[in-house]
Amino acid sequence: MSQPEKLYEGKAKIIYPTDDPNIFLAHYKDDATAFNAQKRGQIQGKGEINCRVSAVLFQDLEAKGIPTHYLDCPASNQMRIRAVEIVPLEVVVRNIAAGSLCRQTGLPEGQILAQPLVEFYLKNDELGDPLLTRDRILLLEIVTSEQLDRLKALALEIDGHLQKFFAAGGITLVDFKLEFGFDREGQLRLADEISPDTCRLWDSAETDPEAKVMDKDRFRRDLGQIETAYQQVLQRVETVMTQNQMTQLPSTNDR
Ligand code: UDP
Repeated sequence: MSQPEKLYEGKAKIIYPTDDPNIFLAHYKDDATAFNAQKRGQIQGKGEINCRVSAVLFQDLEAKGIPTHYLDCPASNQMRIRAVEIVPLEVVVRNIAAGSLCRQTGLPEGQILAQPLVEFYLKNDELGDPLLTRDRILLLEIVTSEQLDRLKALALEIDGHLQKFFAAGGITLVDFKLEFGFDREGQLRLADEISPDTCRLWDSAETDPEAKVMDKDRFRRDLGQIETAYQQVLQRVETVMTQNQMTQLPSTNDR
């Protein structure tokens, strides 16, 4: 059967329609971009790794009551997702100072934040994804005030779950970007991906500032060993998932 016309092609994924108008198919690509696509490359095996990491994390979050767009993975680099209308906001949650927060505020990299910081950026490459204020979001009528509160609460709840999940795999969750969408019933769902492309992940056992980096900063900063770092993240995430499944199984004594 020939591939249907794509609905949308982004920097890291291609979205295809399916026979069911409520379901799309996301193909995760090996293409890597940074600095608003000014730097381009390929990370061998990235599509599969990001798809598998995202699938594990979406399933874990769903189990904890967070609605996501995830359905299942028909192939290792393909995810069936619920059709959602993406809210044009990049919701960034930070636990430790890094990246643009340090560049823009002078906070030293690695400083632990007293409480998680939630930020909203406009999802618009032409404008360079500017940082928004609450009033600008309401001015642009991107979401209502109540929806914005819900987005922030969801982002903080997701942060709590993800921090714990990654910590069990010896990974420190520094910061990450989320996207949300409204499904056909008007329910807000976590969408896009959660992967080493969209999170800063530091090896908790490493102190060396370069050796600890397990995410796209290896590509952004030309640190090398990108594929190995991404594979490590996948391996650890899948190990935590297996461990969690084992502890959830009823023991023979419980029967
Ligand atoms: N991020 C992302 N896509 C973007 C911008 C940021 O996934 O278009 C992620 C990035 O990987 C990091 C977090 O959001 O985990 C915060 O990024 P930051 O604002 O520090 O931007 P950067 O320093 O990468 O320019």
